[in-house]
Order: sequence, then structure tokens, then C-alpha cells
Amino acid sequence: MCCSNNLTEKDLLPGKQDTSYLERIKGMRFFDPHIHMTSRTTDDYQAMADAGIVAIIEPAFWLGQPRTGVDTFRDYYSSLVGWERFRSSQFGIKHYCTIGLNSREANNEALAEQVMEILPLFIYKEGVVGVGEIGFDDQTPAEDKYYRLQLELAKEASMPVQIHTPHRDKKKGTSRSMDIALEHNLDPYTVIVDHNNEETVKEVLDRGFWAAFTIYPFTKMGNERMVEIVKQYGTERIMINSAADWGISDPLAVPKTAALMKDHGFSDEDIRMVTYQNAITAFAQSGQINVDDFTVAQGIDQSEKFEGNTILRGGQQPRVDKNSMIIK
Ligand SMILES: [Zn+2]
Repeated sequence: MCCSNNLTEKDLLPGKQDTSYLERIKGMRFFDPHIHMTSRTTDDYQAMADAGIVAIIEPAFWLGQPRTGVDTFRDYYSSLVGWERFRSSQFGIKHYCTIGLNSREANNEALAEQVMEILPLFIYKEGVVGVGEIGFDDQTPAEDKYYRLQLELAKEASMPVQIHTPHRDKKKGTSRSMDIALEHNLDPYTVIVDHNNEETVKEVLDRGFWAAFTIYPFTKMGNERMVEIVKQYGTERIMINSAADWGISDPLAVPKTAALMKDHGFSDEDIRMVTYQNAITAFAQSGQINVDDFTVAQGIDQSEKFEGNTILRGGQQPRVDKNSMIIK
């Protein structure tokens, strides 16, 4: 099966893009289970909604520079369950998050201790679907310690775990992350191992964990490689995400990969599994996902407020869906 519109990695670059792929996935719904919207714009939200993204998960992560105090963690977690969730709703996208201490900042042990104390205040909040993203960066003893403590926290709360696997020494770091999860008696079916590649996928699936793949320009995984992986391993326990953040990344990576899969002759059902359903099945184990919240048409009223603030600035006209016959 061939077509001149095949997407390539260069289509994942930001800037001017061919949007004809949207036609080929029209009517499909997508769930991006890893995206850092705090770092993105309202244009991104609009483009995501237009491309069929109906729900997302925003994992708590590293902000690009080290935080200096526990209060900034507290405010960040509050925004993930508060303002960002509201902002997303203003574009008709259901926002969930995972809460955790990221691996890099586990290395500041004095601060990590304080963060561990506030985590239980957030993980039980509405819309929190797991403990994440946690795991290894440099695979230091401190990272090991806080990873284990957070696995225990997840177990106690009966929450799924979202594991960030390291960029360096990935294969070893991924195996080790799974070894430790099993050592702490976590059911692999409740653990989503993220940022997989061709080297790690087989072991992750063989051991019964969920395998998430990040489509990220230039690093991690291009979406042509992703298509080959689904051809080889099928769709069971595999999910695709964008992990779009403050770096060069693409919040439309999931719908673009869906279009590429379609070009390669995958059925709509196969595409649905890896770009929508599997992520829902995995994270719904938190008891926090109600698909009616994003499958039943919800009205959007951008004049709504969150603690007195709207996403509008002076003079901007809100978008209000007119479901009603009554014109006031
Ligand atoms: Zn991330």
C-alpha cells in the first residue's frame, strides 16, 4: 500500500505543515497519555482538538531547571489538578494527570524528602490517574530510593504507575525499573513503562507490562519506526504518546501516527487500540476515568471561569457552543 502523502519524520517538525493527513483520520478519537500541556499554548490545544484528541494525561515532570523549594512542587501539582485541567476543558479536551517526584529531582535528597511528604495530598485528587512519571534518569542510588518509595505509595493507593525510562543506558534501566516494580509486588498490568524503543519492547511485553512509545522528533522514536513495531508486535498493551513539552516536540504526534498507520493499511480498530483504547484501559484502573466525559459531546463555554480567571484576555470573544435553540 502506497501513497504520496505518507508522513515522514520531517512532518513532525514544528512550523509549516501539510495538514491533509487530517482528512484521513476524520471522525477518529485520540487519547494522548503523556503530554506536558503546562508548557504548551492555546494554539496547541485548538489544533489537538481539531485533530480529534479528546483526552490527555499530563504527567508531573522536570521543568527544565531545578526547583529550589517544596512550594514550587506544591504549586505545580495544584496547577495540574486545577488551572491546567480547566484550560484544557476550554478546548473540549478532558485532562487527567499523574503525580510524582521525577527522577532527576530525586537526586536533591533534602528536597525529595519534603516532596514525598506532600505527594499523598495530591494523588487522591479528582483526575489523578496514577503515580508518575517516576523511575530512573542517571540510575543513581537516590533515584532508586525515591522510585521504590513511590512504588509503595502507588501500591497503597491502588494506582497505576507511569515509568519514565532513562535516555542513557536505556535497556538496562528499563529492565531494572521492571525488576524493582516486581520486587515491590506490583502487578505488571498496573505499570505503564514509557519511552520504549526496538531494544526494550519485547522484554516489556513478555513480562506483562504496558509498553508506551513516545513519538518525538529527532530523539526517542520516529513514527515510521513506530509503525514497524506495531507490525511486528501487534496492538496488545501498546500505546502511543507525544510527550510534547518545552522542547522541540509535537502535540499532534498521536493523530499523525494514526494517519501513517492508515497509510500502511492498518485497520481502524488496530489504530484505535494503540492511539486511544489501550491507554484508557491501563489508566482507568485508577477508577478516575469515565469515558462518557469525553465521548458524549460536551459544550464548551470559554466565558467560564476558574477561581475568577478565564483563558480570555481583554476584548477577546469567547467560543460558546450553541446547543440551545434559545437565543438570548
Ligand atoms: Zn514526560
